[in-house]
Amino acid sequence: MMINAVCDACGCHFKLTSLGQSRLVVSHKQIDVTYFVCPSCGKLYVVSVADFKWYMLSGELQAVTKRVNRAIKKQDETLLRKLYGIQAVKRDRLASHESSLLKMYRGRLTTEPDGRGGVELCIDRANTDVED
Ligand SMILES: [Zn+2]
Repeated sequence: MMINAVCDACGCHFKLTSLGQSRLVVSHKQIDVTYFVCPSCGKLYVVSVADFKWYMLSGELQAVTKRVNRAIKKQDETLLRKLYGIQAVKRDRLASHESSLLKMYRGRLTTEPDGRGGVELCIDRANTDVED
């Protein structure tokens, strides 16, 4: 992976070669966060957040995608039309859950020095009383 990124906080240009991944517990819920940090000013960018429901919805989408692939092999057009409809609903459900997770957690996460020259993701103590 190699992405040319520009930090919108400090304007620094940098090459993004890997994303950080951390598992956190926020309000008794376990979440997996994918993120990166500007190497110049340290601004945190949260790429995605996954929780239990996300894994459930994602699993449902994968399951229906498998059925779509089987129907394609069998050239069963009636079944395919039905499955495409189900797949679209599952995909929308996952996408809207993804965006609500980002909205819910983006402002509640921050980074702290990890003592090894890097940073680690953690819950923003100033925002711990924010309700879900
Ligand atoms: Zn920056």
